[in-house]
Amino acid sequence: MSEERSLNFIEEIIENDLKSGKYESIVTRFPPEPNGYLHMGHASSICLNFGLTRKYKGYTNLRFDDTNPITEDTEYVESIKEDIKWLGFEWKNELYASDYFEQLFQFAVTLINKGLAYVDDSTAEQIALEKGTPTQPGVNSKYRDRSIEENLQLFNEMRAGKYEDGAKVLRLKIDMSAGNMLMRDPLIYRIKHAHHHRTGDAWCIYPMYDFAHGQSDSIEKITHSICTMEFIPHRELYDWLIEKLEIFPSHQYEFARRNLNYTVMSKRKLLSLVNDGFVNGWDDPRMPTISGMRRRGYPASSIREFCDRIGIGKRENMVDIGLLEFCVREDLNKSSQRRMVVFDPIKVTISNFSSDEIVHIENNPENENGGEREVLFSNEIYIEREDFMENPPKKYFRLAPGQLVRLKSAYIIQCDEVIKDDAGNIIELKCTYFPESKSGQDTSGLQVKSTIHWVSCKEAVPVTINLYDRLFKVEDVDGADGEFKDHINENSLIVLKTAVAEKSLLSATLNDRFQFLRKGYFCLDKESTANNLIFNRTVTLKDSWAKEKAK
Ligand code: ATP
Ligand code: MG
Repeated sequence: MSEERSLNFIEEIIENDLKSGKYESIVTRFPPEPNGYLHMGHASSICLNFGLTRKYKGYTNLRFDDTNPITEDTEYVESIKEDIKWLGFEWKNELYASDYFEQLFQFAVTLINKGLAYVDDSTAEQIALEKGTPTQPGVNSKYRDRSIEENLQLFNEMRAGKYEDGAKVLRLKIDMSAGNMLMRDPLIYRIKHAHHHRTGDAWCIYPMYDFAHGQSDSIEKITHSICTMEFIPHRELYDWLIEKLEIFPSHQYEFARRNLNYTVMSKRKLLSLVNDGFVNGWDDPRMPTISGMRRRGYPASSIREFCDRIGIGKRENMVDIGLLEFCVREDLNKSSQRRMVVFDPIKVTISNFSSDEIVHIENNPENENGGEREVLFSNEIYIEREDFMENPPKKYFRLAPGQLVRLKSAYIIQCDEVIKDDAGNIIELKCTYFPESKSGQDTSGLQVKSTIHWVSCKEAVPVTINLYDRLFKVEDVDGADGEFKDHINENSLIVLKTAVAEKSLLSATLNDRFQFLRKGYFCLDKESTANNLIFNRTVTLKDSWAKEKAK
């Protein structure tokens, strides 16, 4: 797959850089802000950054971009590390932008000394007002011509905590009439008396993103700093700072953000789904977070395959979640163990079968080494209620009065009698079986068109089934009218309490992947206990939404 695909534009750049001898090896970084859990968009950035250094024999740093003390948290740091490892990648160094605070401060001092930065006492409103517009140049701040000495003193006092939040900022002295608004004397430090999750109360001034990011890249000698397209206008400033500080020349490259339909991907929106109780936490199986997808049963390999297939580009587009589900199905079809679970059971009594019998059922027809398991077949079994119809239409090939059906890996049965309670509900089916019709050694000569799954009553284990579906009803959630939460799919979780499973599922573990025959792919949920087995539907067997759309 990846070998056959043509090079993407970043790979082309890297191959040229290696060929020309610009770099001997490459270094990338993945720089999450620890203000939420990672989502599918991050997964694509992770696969890109770590995938490149795996392919070209370099390394990737994990750098927490923790320059904003307010929103960051250690819980997020831990979840991010777990998610990257689970996706199958290893970082070389675990780093924190906050570890560079002293170095960044010194860089700022260097810029002041070069006459390239100044302390501005203007209010935020004043600064915004003086900034101009894309068609109108800005105006110089009245603090712009402070002497180097005064700037140094004020900046040191800012650090020492002499001023209130917002009283002063440090700005670069570039050009208030620059065509690129970001070059109009951008702010690089602000005062914020706030506790930081790593540096505690050591600092009350914090660097702005544009100042910290490129400099952190440079400190780590990152060769290819890859970010999303919205940072294109920042590249000029990124290069300017590296040039003026005369530090390692990291380069920034941009690719288009990856968005998925039927979901939202900004951490802010995901956080509000959690806080407002629309989902049960960041790792709710309906969330597009890596932890949500893991809990839902998506194999890490299927997410990597998906990221590989969508590739990277320069234009933002919406990726069909159907493609992700396709990758998940393809992966699980090969790797999952087949099991029988009846969701809505109806009892079948086989009147001419008396002794118990062990039948052997293959675990995975897609894997010749998958082996078999033993399943008890007895005279009382459960089948799906929907596999029986009292008055079937013409082409109904499952069980009906007088009609025949095959039981998976067992016998053909025929329905002889329908038993109802006083209210007229069907409560049991009386059937007979054909002894010569055993699967694999059938000499009965009978023709049946359908095979259904079953669970013997003696070994039936009650289980809870979480049927997950897409969290949103509309394709373009961000673009739809109204609030994004207006479009939540109220049927995105259906909890079934009626299901019974074959006994072998008692030993299911969190790492196991199952296909419940004719039902879909499932995995054990982390809240499952010995007395209450809970299974999550990972994905249905077929893409029911594609049909829905075609209607
Ligand atoms: P969000 O808007 O969801 O908070 P973010 O870009 O602010 O996302 P960061 O933690 O700052 O999240 O990003 C870490 C890395 O992941 C960055 O390099 C960013 O470009 C990348 N990234 C985030 N979202 C996407 C996406 N949808 N597609 C591709 N890359 C993404
Ligand atoms: Mg961010």
